[in-house]
Amino acid sequence: MFVKRPTVLVLGAGYGGLTTVVNLQKLVGTDDVEIILINKNDYHYESTWLHEAAAGTLSPEQVRYDVKNVIDESKVKFIKAEVQGIDVKGKVVTSTAGTHTYDYLVIGLGFEGETFGIPGLDKYALAMANVKAARQIREHIDYQFATWSTEEEKDDSRLTIVVGGAGFSGIELLGELGNRVPELCKEFDVPQEKVRVLCVEAAPMVLPGFDPELVDYAVRQLSAKGIEFSIGTPVVEATPEGVKIKKGEDEFEFIKAGTVIWAAGVRGNKLIEESGIENMRARVKVEKDLRAPGHEDVFIVGDCALLINEEINRPYPPTAQIAMQQGVTIAQNVHALIKGEPTKEFVPDLKGSVCSLGDDDAIGLVFGKKMTGTKASFMKKMVDNRALYLIGGVGLTLKKGKFNLIK
Ligand code: FAD
Ligand code: NAD
Repeated sequence: MFVKRPTVLVLGAGYGGLTTVVNLQKLVGTDDVEIILINKNDYHYESTWLHEAAAGTLSPEQVRYDVKNVIDESKVKFIKAEVQGIDVKGKVVTSTAGTHTYDYLVIGLGFEGETFGIPGLDKYALAMANVKAARQIREHIDYQFATWSTEEEKDDSRLTIVVGGAGFSGIELLGELGNRVPELCKEFDVPQEKVRVLCVEAAPMVLPGFDPELVDYAVRQLSAKGIEFSIGTPVVEATPEGVKIKKGEDEFEFIKAGTVIWAAGVRGNKLIEESGIENMRARVKVEKDLRAPGHEDVFIVGDCALLINEEINRPYPPTAQIAMQQGVTIAQNVHALIKGEPTKEFVPDLKGSVCSLGDDDAIGLVFGKKMTGTKASFMKKMVDNRALYLIGGVGLTLKKGKFNLIK
């Protein structure tokens, strides 16, 4: 009797989706399971390097690689298409390539920028949402510098860059901009004192919740590179001319800026909100085995998953570190279900956090140990290389890795 092999449909070739696929393809035989991976582009991009592509310190090409480089095409069918709808009741996904049914679904469609409904941000601010958006930021900044230098009546606000949010993304971007601005000034004949890079943060501190000593170090180092901070002053509006910030009860200031980059938080992919799965800001509070509550055949991986740290009763921050670990567990759990075995609980193994301050500096808290400067920067590049290695092995690491380890 012919028995149809089960179909595992994976949406998104980010850290979570791709880790699921490369691990699942190792667990199954060629004819056991049909694995289908759908992604918007035929490449994966390192979201964790988007600040470098945005600032122009790394080329967009270096940040991405072909999905086909890391999948086993004898076991995985790759479809380049944009997912348009997920119907978990009808067990069907629609995309620009048609409709797709599944026995097991893994949703790994990643993050979108959170604008909290602040007027004008969607329209007038740029965001490091993906590699194309990062390239657009780089080109926008180049354009502002180029235009300033050819203008007869110079508008210096063209040379003002506002970064909204001093979380990890904002700080890493500022680190890159701190190194890039002197290069831009040289390239476009701009006196550096005309350039202003300002970070606006709503909370009373930079990197809220992170180790204060490391935060002090970061602020000192970035300030030395000319970065300004406006702390405790939320952005309340963006216009084509710049941003309005709140400085006190009834006190506001308008900052005229040629470039506004929004890096003030993330949410899950909006398709989650229309999928019929219960969610909060497009993130699904997953079961212990990473399945969506009430949907035995649907797993959620990465930034679309909301995972509670029960020790502090707060969600784990959405990171590539966790997305990749979840991918490994999901591959094992899907395999277990196919074999009729029980699934296992996902237990994150957090090794720490390292925040770059440009290519030559960083801060980090790794295995509980604080580190700064060259040591932390070395560690950050090792973390970046490790992600490449875990998905694509030695070949990919040699091709795309960071080997200027000490600066
Ligand atoms: P993503 O990596 O966002 O991948 C989602 C994939 O889905 C993409 O390939 C996308 O093209 C695809 N997709 C989206 N929508 C569709 C659609 N409709 N149809 C088809 N395909 C679609 N985390 C760390 O742990 N360490 C770091 O150092 C770090 N640095 C960061 C720096 C920056 C600037 C940013 C923005 C984030 C950083 N993060 C870091 C967080 C990390 O990048 C995310 O947590 C991680 O990317 C989440 O992985 P994911 O697989 O859920 O989604
Ligand atoms: P985040 O939520 O960590 O930080 C956003 C910041 O924006 C916060 O400090 C918040 O107070 C501020 N903010 C919110 N509203 C604002 C407003 N109206 N005006 C001004 N500031 C405002 O978001 P993120 O930095 O984008 O990071 C997203 C996720 O990616 C996090 O989980 C982070 O840990 C992870 N990440 C990790 C690394 C790393 O490990 N090196 C790097 C980047 C991002």
